[in-house]
Amino acid sequence: MLEDKDRIFQNLYNDGNADLKSAMSRGDWLNTKELCQKGKEWLINEIKISELRGRGGAGFPTGLKWSFAPKEIGSRQHYLVINADESEPGTCKDRDILRFEPHKLVEGCLLAAYAVGAHKCYIYVRGEYFNEGNKLQYAINEAYEKGLIGKNASGTNWDLDIYIHYGAGAYICGEETALLESIEGKKGQPRLKPPFPALIGLYGCPTIVNNVETIAVVPTILRRGGKWFASLGKKKNTGTKIFCISGNVNNPCNVEEEMGITLKELIEKHAGGVIGGWDNLKAVIPGGSSMPLLPKEICETITMDFDTLIENKSGLGTAGIVVINNDQDIIKCMARIARFYKHESCGQCTPCREGSGWMWRMLERMAKGEASREEVDMLLDVTKQIEGHTICAFGEGSAWPVQGLLRHFKKEVAKRNDFNPLVNKNRNIPYLVDQHLLEK
Ligand code: SF4
Repeated sequence: MLEDKDRIFQNLYNDGNADLKSAMSRGDWLNTKELCQKGKEWLINEIKISELRGRGGAGFPTGLKWSFAPKEIGSRQHYLVINADESEPGTCKDRDILRFEPHKLVEGCLLAAYAVGAHKCYIYVRGEYFNEGNKLQYAINEAYEKGLIGKNASGTNWDLDIYIHYGAGAYICGEETALLESIEGKKGQPRLKPPFPALIGLYGCPTIVNNVETIAVVPTILRRGGKWFASLGKKKNTGTKIFCISGNVNNPCNVEEEMGITLKELIEKHAGGVIGGWDNLKAVIPGGSSMPLLPKEICETITMDFDTLIENKSGLGTAGIVVINNDQDIIKCMARIARFYKHESCGQCTPCREGSGWMWRMLERMAKGEASREEVDMLLDVTKQIEGHTICAFGEGSAWPVQGLLRHFKKEVAKRNDFNPLVNKNRNIPYLVDQHLLEK
């Protein structure tokens, strides 16, 4: 378990206050000027040493991303954009940073902006986080008043302005290029990549987009050293992470823990255990609704880090852990998730726009026991036609939960719909092909 001395977020439960004075008493804004004076190269290198991976879902190395920003500022200014559009079902970690630890984010913005050469920073807050946005704006105002940001921010000779931009409730605006489109006042639809935002981003200028939690941990890493952060967790999966635990647990909560902690420990120790006891566990979605679920057998021993979850055909994503016990109808749960993705598809790519509706409708039939055995094959086929054939990762995000259901609960689907899952009636052959696809 993470020791208190290594905890980055000391006000995660709002035991103290979020104001500047309280934040400073917890160590925020300490020696910010001296850190910047060590230079851009040092800042980027220290983050590389820490092996910090983005906390928004993709897990891309943060130091490497920063190094993609052009070294010199040319005719186009640089931007730093913070993604606070937290919309992944099961995820509510950035929300607590915005309302309880906003100064960690504001200070992180200054350090990151200095490192990537940005004088302007936009924080894209999801529209529903109105109160959280107010708290953040209050912290930004405090920082301006004390000269921590603005002209000659913190005495660094660097000017930084921070603006909040509210979204209007579209899940897809959490995708970084859709987010940029939205800031520009356009419809929030993902762009084709490349070019990547680091070279052509906001208003066609070099832009670094980072998640709230990623930037909020930066000041502590720089103060305590990249090696300290790298000493926590596991190799290539370092540091601490805020896990959000919800669903059928006795005490849903957010908790900061070391990467690589076991899922069972998180649920049993921090979330008060599964409702009805551990043996009543059916499955867990480990990283927000777009990640494939894991059945109880795997949940017994699995550790929560990027690489282990990928090895087990799932993903850490946002670390939004949704616990599902035996009181739930697992097929209905997945139909509900499929409905969400059908609703949120931006509609640019045919496989995603049409496929997400197909998946939802078939799952609804399967939940009611009205599906035919051919539809299991067809459902898997639809997921495979979406995956890898779309502009953005939303396609995978909608297909993977369905694949997870078929991978681990095919027998349950078959039982409800009254057919043998191992034999395909039409072709009179076993489901070998499908099993093979599921292993991928
Ligand atoms: Fe839009 Fe879906 Fe295509 Fe992403 S994958 S661009 S959400 S249609």
